Parts: sequence; C-alpha cells; structure tokens
Amino acid sequence: MDAQVLNVQSPPRRLREAHAHLPWLGRALDMLSLEDCKSASEAIDRLAARAAATPPGAWVQAHSARVAGWSEGGWFDRSELDRVTGQTPTLAMSFDHHAVFANSAALLRAGIGPGTPDPAGGIIARDRNGEPTGLLLEAAAFSTWALAPEPPESSRSELIARAAAHLEGLGFVEAHDLFAPDWLGPLLADLVRSGRTGLRFGLYVPLDAIETADAGRKAWESDRLRLLGGKIFTDGTLNSRTAWMLEPYLDAPPGLELGKPLMRAGEIAAAIERCSRLGHGIAMHAIGDGAVRACLDGIEIRQRAAGARGLKPDVRIEHCELIARSDIARFADLGVIASVQPCHLLADIEALRAGVGDRLDRVMPWRDLLEAGLEPGKTLLFGSDVPVVRAEPEDSIRAAVARRRAGSELAIAPEQAIGEPDAWACFGGTARA
Ligand SMILES: [Zn+2]
Repeated sequence: MDAQVLNVQSPPRRLREAHAHLPWLGRALDMLSLEDCKSASEAIDRLAARAAATPPGAWVQAHSARVAGWSEGGWFDRSELDRVTGQTPTLAMSFDHHAVFANSAALLRAGIGPGTPDPAGGIIARDRNGEPTGLLLEAAAFSTWALAPEPPESSRSELIARAAAHLEGLGFVEAHDLFAPDWLGPLLADLVRSGRTGLRFGLYVPLDAIETADAGRKAWESDRLRLLGGKIFTDGTLNSRTAWMLEPYLDAPPGLELGKPLMRAGEIAAAIERCSRLGHGIAMHAIGDGAVRACLDGIEIRQRAAGARGLKPDVRIEHCELIARSDIARFADLGVIASVQPCHLLADIEALRAGVGDRLDRVMPWRDLLEAGLEPGKTLLFGSDVPVVRAEPEDSIRAAVARRRAGSELAIAPEQAIGEPDAWACFGGTARA
C-alpha cells in the first residue's frame, strides 16, 4: 500500500484548495511555529528565545502547538511560561486554532482573573482553586488572541502575496478563503490586477459581514475573484473536545461530554436564508456528527421553506470529521457539498483514538459519501485548512487512500479509503459558484 501511496508525486497540478485562511497563512509564515516540538519543555525553550528577541511592549505569538503529541501529554505550567517570558504578553495557539495558552502578562491584558466568568461560547480553564491555568478555549481563546496587535496594514499585501505564492508553489490554481476579513477582497483584486498572483480566489466572509461584503463586492470582484458566501461555526474542534458529538467522548472534561454546540438547526436555517436572500452560498463549520446533523437539519428546514426553488447557491459543510451512518445519504439527497480535509486524519490519529475510539468507523467516511452519490471535485471537495495543517496536497491524498501516516501501521477506518484518482479529483475542477 505504501508504495502505491508514496507514488503520488506526479499529480495533475491544477488543484483547488477549498479551505484555506490566507491572512493567517501569511502571518504563520512569519510567526513562531511550535509544530515540530516534541515536548512542552521544547516549546518553552522556543517561546523563551522568541521572548528574549522581542522588543518591550510587543507580544509573542506562537502557533501550531500539537499538545497531544508532546511527551508530557499536556500544556506546560503557567509559572514555567512566566519564568521565561516575564512581562512580555505571550500566547501559544493550538494547531487547531481553538485553544490558546496565555502567560500571566497576557491574562492581565485580557482582564482574566479568578473571578472572571466564562465568556459566551468560551471556556477559561481553572485549577482546583478557581485560578485560571492559562488555557483558554473557543471564544475565550479567540478574544485573547485578538488582543495582540495585528501586523501593520502596510505589511498586509506582502503577507497575502506570500501566502498566495506558497499555495501556487504547491500546484494550486484556485484557493478559497473561509473567513475573509473585509480588506481581503480589495487587496486580492490588486494582487490579481498587478499580476502578483496567478491564483483564482473564492471568499467566504463571517456571516455578520455578508451584507457589507455583498454591497462592496462590485468594486473588487472579477472572473478570478468572487465572493462565495457567508461562514458560520456550528461547533468547535476535536482536539479541544468542543466538536459537537451525538455520543459522549470517551475522555471529555466535565461539562464537555458532547462537545460544544454553537448553533442549533433553526439558527442555521436562518443563516442559510440570510445568505441566499443576497444570492450567496454558505459554508458551515461542523466537525462532530452532532454538528453535521444540525447543519443537515437546518438545510432541510430551509429547503422545505424554499420549496421548488431548492438550495441555490452552494451550501457547504466544512470538515465533517464524523458523520452518523443515517446522515450519509442526506448529503446527496439535500444537494449539500462536503468540503473536507483528509490531511487532518494524519494529524489527529491519537486524538481520534482517545476521544472517539469506540466509533472510528464513522470517522471521515469518504467512501460512504462517494457511494451515496457525492461527486469528486463537485460535491466532495478537498482542502487542508492551512495554516491549521500544512497545505501539501499529498498529505490529503495519503490520508484518503491509506488512512494512516507513512510508515505507520495505525490506520483509522481503512474501509473508508478511496482510490487515488478519486482523491485527486476531489482537488480538481472548478467549484460550482
Ligand atoms: Zn478553517
């Protein structure tokens, strides 16, 4: 099998990256990465070195901490981090972007202390005495991360150009951004016009920005750059145990037995309607099988209301890492696009076995979806979620075809493997838009 899988070096290089984050990628190419750290102490050493080289007043931000793979098996102690970072606000983000570890200086800036209540949609992890440990989840993580100063506006163009060049270098001809800020469309229009990128782009903007984006898009859209729709989040992530599950996790922290539902079916239906009223599609983040079902339910509510007009433009569910058996057929029946990132299987093998080891047969069931009628490259799309994981398409091909890391025996639901031509086809073509 490995010979076959490793034989993916001469792919048809006209690929679509259906799920990317260009502004984060641009910054990530610039930021401290903890990706290949093997332990918490190695991560601490890197943060110490970066803090020592950081001017007073500036923040240290690191990304791609893969804590499940660290030899200690968990985050460091806040006091250890404080010892090497001192007064420099320091944030280390989990590779899945849904957890951030903050030092005391950063907690102080965020106004987080023992008496601070959890924000809506977020969790401040606490020790036995109620003292914040430094670990922040979901909304608590996002809002604290957002306190660090953005790169200056003058560097944006350079960062985005670098992100686009990175993807182009991997063979992509089209990239979709799944959480585009308001400045991204105009900036990409400049890059396209000036010939600084050869890519085509499709943008999904936060749901709350869809009206503004729609009103402004005429100024920047072109045949190579389109507003595709709104983006919503219906759950968290597997690694943070915030992905919304139908059955309890095997190892959930108290209160997160089923993860964290962020939107219910009725709200999802309303979000679809809000976008389609303007003629736009929607992309819905849903990782757990509970969230996927809520999205399908929301789509069904919306479709019933729309009647014969059906669901136009595209309705996409992003990630779909677990899908209940009884929900598989609903994708094709409802005309939904599954936009998935097989490469996450390689990153998440340990987390999947620990959290949902009793239902691995429901993990990333790409073969089931194809057999139920989804079409590679049309209604089953591949992407990476870069910079959450790297964008090399071979990773997703390997995961889709072999369901395990190269050189490892540990496979997840090998019966869900798909053929290599189908896997490449999921990266190919041009998405309906
Ligand atoms: Zn994403």
